[in-house]
Amino acid sequence: MKLSSFGKRFSTGSGILSLMDDLGNALAGGDMIMMGGGNPGHVPEVQEMLRRRLRELAEDPAEFRKLIGIYDPPRGEKDFLQALAALLRSEYGWDLGPENICLTNGSQGSFFLLFNMFAGRFDDGSHKKVLLPLAPEYIGYADLGLSDDFFTAVRPRIDFLEDNLFKYRVDFDHIEVNTDIGVICASRPTNPTGNVLTDDEIQGLARLAAENDIPFIIDNAYGVPFPGIIYTEATPVWNENLIVCMSLSKFGLPAARTGIVIARTEIIEVLSGINSILNLAPGSFGAMLTTDIVRSGEIIRLSREVIMPFYRRKMEKAMHWINTYFTGFDYRVHTPEGAMFLWLWFPELPISSRTLYERLKERGVLVVSGDYFFPGLEPGWSHTGECIRITYSQDEEDVHQGLRIIGEEVRRACGDS
Ligand code: PLP
Repeated sequence: MKLSSFGKRFSTGSGILSLMDDLGNALAGGDMIMMGGGNPGHVPEVQEMLRRRLRELAEDPAEFRKLIGIYDPPRGEKDFLQALAALLRSEYGWDLGPENICLTNGSQGSFFLLFNMFAGRFDDGSHKKVLLPLAPEYIGYADLGLSDDFFTAVRPRIDFLEDNLFKYRVDFDHIEVNTDIGVICASRPTNPTGNVLTDDEIQGLARLAAENDIPFIIDNAYGVPFPGIIYTEATPVWNENLIVCMSLSKFGLPAARTGIVIARTEIIEVLSGINSILNLAPGSFGAMLTTDIVRSGEIIRLSREVIMPFYRRKMEKAMHWINTYFTGFDYRVHTPEGAMFLWLWFPELPISSRTLYERLKERGVLVVSGDYFFPGLEPGWSHTGECIRITYSQDEEDVHQGLRIIGEEVRRACGDS
């Protein structure tokens, strides 16, 4: 088969493809403790509400026809856009309307469109990159560029905290925004670390973006108002220089593939144009299932009172097991401020995190090796090979046993047993 450069770009040499293959093969191979993926948990109260809503839609002839039989406009389902704009205005005072919102088929797709709108080749022959101001950053960005050399990333400062915790901070002294940068992007809360950039950090990055007349994308896949998986104080921000990306996935609808982009109207117009070319229209399913709870604000209550406590409880249990089983070796955990991951750092690990990943896989535990999470970073920082990401969203007993085995394997590698 003769593939174009486009075809080759998406089929060869991608870190994520090989990682996914490996995870898939390991899974097919038998009983595995899955602490690698990013699937959200199944929250009973949320699923019950969605089941009820789906039944109501299915039983109402007009609604059912709309649910399955009509293409939405390219920006997405009108009632949902209206309800979301009203919610964001009343909840946060953001000065926006439905014309500032575009739906996509999952926020992964939003990033593909936005990154390639603002980075890559330009008509004047220049080439611009996406700046990730704090690496580690979301692995899913790494292969989204339509040209090479697409990302540049900056090492964080590290604050050492009590109780074996640490926190990454944006190192503004080492961030350089020049004409090579087309857009800045950061996830908040961050996948893989659970870090939440502080209000000062967000303001500093927003200022840098505005001064250089480039957009700053905030990836809010885990943030407020929904799914609200955030255990610390953080002010949600949007203005015309910012692009906020949201998703219904971590609220409990990953299969409905609903991404939400909030931006100034000229950006939304370009996005909706691409939507019509690539997809004709975004899917209606997620939007229709949630319009009522967005309109009533119930989505915020569920996020605050059900979803966030669901993950917080799981995080606290995982931290307890870490403190129980991680003995006899040096370890640190990124302070868990949100999302559904723990980022574990073994500063004296004599093997690479990839070798640790392989050894854990042999023991039936799947994690993700940390070195995948540094797209765009200059090589040479040993820290990138000393960390792993684990997910605590799934079965608690699995997480318990997984952490026990991770403790054993790290202790063995460090030569203490
Ligand atoms: N951004 C972050 C930080 C994520 O962790 C994910 C998924 O795990 C996404 C974006 C993409 O989510 P989706 O395409 O399901 O909306």
